[in-house]
Amino acid sequence: MKMDKVKLSIVSLSLLVLGTTFYSCNKGKIVSTGDVSITDVVKAKFSSAVSISTKGIGRKERIILKSNGLPEHKTPYWGSGHALYEDFPSGHAPNANTTMESQTYVMKIPTNPAEASSKEETSLGEIGMALNGVAIYNDREGGNVSLDAMTLSTFDNSGAHPTPGKNYHYHTTGKYTSVDDAKLIGFLRDGFPIYGRKDMTGEYPTLDEYGGHYGPTEDFPNGIYHYHASNVNYLNSGYYILKAGSYYGTKGNFTK
Ligand SMILES: [Zn+2]
Ligand SMILES: [Zn+2]
Repeated sequence: MKMDKVKLSIVSLSLLVLGTTFYSCNKGKIVSTGDVSITDVVKAKFSSAVSISTKGIGRKERIILKSNGLPEHKTPYWGSGHALYEDFPSGHAPNANTTMESQTYVMKIPTNPAEASSKEETSLGEIGMALNGVAIYNDREGGNVSLDAMTLSTFDNSGAHPTPGKNYHYHTTGKYTSVDDAKLIGFLRDGFPIYGRKDMTGEYPTLDEYGGHYGPTEDFPNGIYHYHASNVNYLNSGYYILKAGSYYGTKGNFTK
């Protein structure tokens, strides 16, 4: 009888220690992608303008994506006379940063992303990379304020413009990425993919507070946690924010 109690205590104590260890490493459960490898999807879906390699093993394995950050598509920010120049949408004009320049982006994402036990807010600057190597930004501008109508009027057809550092970046969906569809747009720094406003069923999904949910996508038919562009017509501008708020997972490095 006494022995049983001791055994029970040891078991309880072990569970407590295990539980503490589990939570203290600030990582949640790895999100299942069925039998589909994120590395394979990244290699298949990113354009040849993005160089892809992997480093490390197991939970520490990372996919390293390198790009120059320039779009392969038309935008007025190429400058008039350039082969890829096209006009601004009606009523729009360039911001003070009239040109864009080549960057040396390096994004490192986990090959096995997990839900973070403590969620971190996205911040100004690069929060992910689109399939063509262009940086993805959240819904904020300099001064960490929400995008306003004035800033929106500097967007091209892709919901993009350059920073003072001449980094061209997407804030919203657009003509050359996704328009009211279920297309894969890119990956955020926590290793989770981001899709257009629709699921592959053609429906607008119900999203959690991080702008994502778990379910099947064209690339991960067995299901994966994934983000979607917001389905809110932002300030009635016709632009749809790609990502606002916190990451679902733990963000990896993004250097430039
Ligand atoms: Zn911006
Ligand atoms: Zn979905």
